Amino acid sequence: MARYTGASCRQCRREGMKLFLKGERCYTDKCAIVTRNYAPGQHGQGRKKVSGYGLQLREKQKVKRIYGVLETQFRNLYERADKMAGMTGVNLLSLLERRLDNVVYRMGLASSRKEARQLVGHGHFLLNGHKADIASMTVKPGDVITVKERSKSSAKFKALVEANTKVAPKWLETNLEEMSAKVVALPTREDIDLEIAEHLIIELYSK
Ligand code: SF4
Repeated sequence: MARYTGASCRQCRREGMKLFLKGERCYTDKCAIVTRNYAPGQHGQGRKKVSGYGLQLREKQKVKRIYGVLETQFRNLYERADKMAGMTGVNLLSLLERRLDNVVYRMGLASSRKEARQLVGHGHFLLNGHKADIASMTVKPGDVITVKERSKSSAKFKALVEANTKVAPKWLETNLEEMSAKVVALPTREDIDLEIAEHLIIELYSK
């Protein structure tokens, strides 16, 4: 599957905020938003005025970058969200939150969504007891996500559990000792602790 392979910190600098794409480094003074909080490129420090369309575009790019989703996938998620009952913007964020890679990240079993995506792709997880190696799979209430028995004893997962300081959102009931989580509800807007103005994305796609 296609994916963005450029510099992560450059994406944060472009959006002017921490997108937490690099795990531990994002919480240190080495973070590029701490050291160079201006847009990348030759004119990065000069760009100031942004049009209404520009704001909408930036918001969409920001959310795509946070969740590591490319344009086609993002557009498809928007179409799905638009067909669901309720507010399209909240539905869109809920679908993004329920991606399997994001769930692994929220469980505290990866330091970033990028790492979570890799771990899922390498086949370390089961969904309801079945192989689940597609990062974009959407989980639903009642689903149980577990680390494969063989992977549980690996140094990698032991270290991830030890290093975890995250508190899982309330829609996920996690058991880190067992390296598992159950989806107990759909994520609500309040559960999504990200500075996102989703209405700008909806305005952009509704044109
Ligand atoms: Fe973004 Fe993390 Fe790089 Fe900081 S360290 S700029 S939060 S990816």
